Amino acid sequence: MSQVTRRDWLRMLVAAGVLPAVPQVLRAAAQETYTCTDVRVPISSKNPAIIFDEAKCIYCGACKRVCHRTMSVEGYFDLKKNGNKPICIHCGQCSTVCEGEAILMRPEWQAVKAAKAAGKTIVVSLSPAVRVSVSEAFGKPAGAFCEGEVIAALRALGADYVLDTCFGADLTIVEEAKELIERLKNRTAPLPQFTSCCPAWVEFCETYFPNELPHLSTAKSPIALQGEAIKTFFAKQKGIDPKNIFNVALTPCPAKKFEIRRPEFEVDGMRGMDAVVTVRELAEWIVAEGVDYQSLQPSAYDSLLGTASGAGIIFGNTGGVAEAILRSAYAFYTGENPPEDFLQFAPVRGLLGTESPRPGALKRARVAFSGTCVVEVLVVQGCANARTVLEQLRKGDLKADLIEVMACEGGCIGGAGLPRAQTVPYLTRAMRNARIDALYACDADKKVRLAHENPVVKQFYAETVGEIGSPAAKARLHTSYLSRAADLGE
Ligand code: SF4
Ligand code: SF4
Repeated sequence: MSQVTRRDWLRMLVAAGVLPAVPQVLRAAAQETYTCTDVRVPISSKNPAIIFDEAKCIYCGACKRVCHRTMSVEGYFDLKKNGNKPICIHCGQCSTVCEGEAILMRPEWQAVKAAKAAGKTIVVSLSPAVRVSVSEAFGKPAGAFCEGEVIAALRALGADYVLDTCFGADLTIVEEAKELIERLKNRTAPLPQFTSCCPAWVEFCETYFPNELPHLSTAKSPIALQGEAIKTFFAKQKGIDPKNIFNVALTPCPAKKFEIRRPEFEVDGMRGMDAVVTVRELAEWIVAEGVDYQSLQPSAYDSLLGTASGAGIIFGNTGGVAEAILRSAYAFYTGENPPEDFLQFAPVRGLLGTESPRPGALKRARVAFSGTCVVEVLVVQGCANARTVLEQLRKGDLKADLIEVMACEGGCIGGAGLPRAQTVPYLTRAMRNARIDALYACDADKKVRLAHENPVVKQFYAETVGEIGSPAAKARLHTSYLSRAADLGE
């Protein structure tokens, strides 16, 4: 007997007249007038990350709850004051909880097909969480390792090169670690240093806390640096005209669809990444093209930017970004690689935290680089918790040197672009934990677990910008941020 889902029940109640359906006249007008905002989030038809289908909305209110409680966005702007502009940080979590499947990722895989048909060289790069989640869409348990199958599927779909965004993460790590040491030693910018690889969190800070932007690391995100490295270093090594490359990021993250369109991330007048395809989109693409996922023979990454360290891989986990940065920061501060316990840094691992304004969300740790240099580390999940932390910072009540913030619970392994379960709750803590454990297992299996020891990272620096943190590296591998406070209309 087939299972009746909560969504089925809600549809039956609407059909029976127990719950109200929305009049057609409101459906027609809904696009940019944002009806029913007492039960759901307003989504602009121009939103680059998510799309909304009015006809499928069952008014369950789940999107509004997650956007308010976890992301601290809904309820923190007023359409009447700001000229009817919905504020959205593009995290996509409203899609993850949407019972009617009315909110989906804005699809981009058709653009990849069109680029292939136009004769472009298709290069696809895999974010960390992708390798432990795609098989869930084809009936395997959460956290099943499927890197080889995903690479094979992408080749079947027409990819000319398949690379690892964890290489880009290695670049982010070494630049961000060097920046932390400069802030600690020379006070080149204010402490604490916040991580900046999560575009939803960056946009949140730009909108609600622009005065605190100097605290954000200026190192570009892994996807931005992967795009940069492919269209410069990789293109040169492979003898490809960068203008003929169509760069695709395969990610857990709809916010990356917004991020790749930031003008700051252009490379020599071109977009660094040309498209972002989430795992949920990839599963749809595989089915649409008739690729038999179950019978694929595992394939391997292409050379050069398919080489990454274990530090780059744990970037997908809450706490993994901070742990990866600390590994290289220790080496840059002391001149020696870190001891074994740095490679299994328990205080920042796992979903549950040591202290929190909301249970389980904050993790705190102390790391001694030397007798006199002790680094206070804070790990934050969810922008609602980030709001609390930033308010403490404003009041001068915050004691920390390095703060990791990821918008999604669990970090990118909780990204809205990953597969979800068939019934409510769509993404359980058990699923998140399984993906987290799988990424740590990948790291433990790697011979190179320090980003600065990645031999291709060394080659990249030698052939492009020289030293880590050099003026040339700052010019190409770092970015700047802008205040979006005017969007609030206050
Ligand atoms: S994408 Fe995130 S910020 Fe935007 S409406 Fe959905 S939950 Fe809110
Ligand atoms: S935590 Fe990861 S998946 Fe979630 S919004 Fe940030 S970068 Fe995207």
